Amino acid sequence: MKFPPNYLVIVLLIFISFTACKNDNGDDQVEDFKAENRKGLGRSAADLLSNDTYQGLTVEFVYANGFRPRESTINTFLDFLAARVVKPDGINLVETVISAPQGAPFTTEEIRDIEDEFRTKYTVGDEIAVFVFFANGNSDNDTETSVTLGTAYQNTSIVIYEKTLEELSASQNIDLGILEINTLNHEFGHLFGLVNILEDDIHTDHEDPNNSKHCVVQDCLMYFETSNTDRAALQLLMNRSAAPEFDPLCIADLQAKGGL
Ligand SMILES: [Zn+2]
Ligand SMILES: [Zn+2]
Repeated sequence: MKFPPNYLVIVLLIFISFTACKNDNGDDQVEDFKAENRKGLGRSAADLLSNDTYQGLTVEFVYANGFRPRESTINTFLDFLAARVVKPDGINLVETVISAPQGAPFTTEEIRDIEDEFRTKYTVGDEIAVFVFFANGNSDNDTETSVTLGTAYQNTSIVIYEKTLEELSASQNIDLGILEINTLNHEFGHLFGLVNILEDDIHTDHEDPNNSKHCVVQDCLMYFETSNTDRAALQLLMNRSAAPEFDPLCIADLQAKGGL
């Protein structure tokens, strides 16, 4: 395995937004039916994990032709959810195929606009909904030495930079399915509030002091190595034959919020 001369650092960015949607038109009314899905990251952790308020979970995958995740990724992801959430009405996966949005590389603001235009499933009644966009372009934050694989940017919103995953898979000879499930499950972990996103986890001492909102346990799904001086993050991915699981401390945090 050869690395490019410029090492590649993988950045799984999280954006913590504590403000509701705002716009520039002076019209800052969020449409009512979208309001529940316009909260800051981590705000729906307990709603996703427990059945205190919502009995069912709908996950909507939105993608353009050619950017659907692997079938094995979808199955593994659904098993991952079923092992963590208490949803007696079940977990419902909806797939919405769209024409490829233009304008890549995408800023998070553009990703929000794409969500606004194409998301069809919102939280309603006793069913909570999550939006996952598999982007047909890269992140605007990418540089020569770092790429963004995915971002959890709102309480029920995730973007997976599928085009970036495909490029990384091809150039670094990493299994695409491994990249997909790593990224998807990791970002969902952020929707679950990990690690200590709202500073209400019961095990605050496992938050990585050097990589905030991530876990110090190297084998944990929520681990992240952001060092600019080595290739640990990429090597970690390359050495994986399957997606990592939550470590016991992260699981304890999820259980404290009503998860399995
Ligand atoms: Zn992360
Ligand atoms: Zn952990």
